[in-house]
Amino acid sequence: MGNQATGAFKCPRCGATTIGNFDNCPECGLSLHVGCPECGQEWRYWEADYAFCPKCGTRIETRIEQEQTVR
Ligand SMILES: [Zn+2]
Ligand SMILES: [Zn+2]
Repeated sequence: MGNQATGAFKCPRCGATTIGNFDNCPECGLSLHVGCPECGQEWRYWEADYAFCPKCGTRIETRIEQEQTVR
């Protein structure tokens, strides 16, 4: 539900609303790119919230809440 304003995006971390195809949140610097570690397929966070890579099926772990240092 809710309208999907084209280009409008709300940062999942700081809540700032941004417009345009930014690669990072201009407010908090959160990376808005999601990339598959296996095949390198990339997409933007707001375009899709994939749990698995649409290309190779690798599990994507990009929980924003776990924005900590990855081992
Ligand atoms: Zn932000
Ligand atoms: Zn992949």
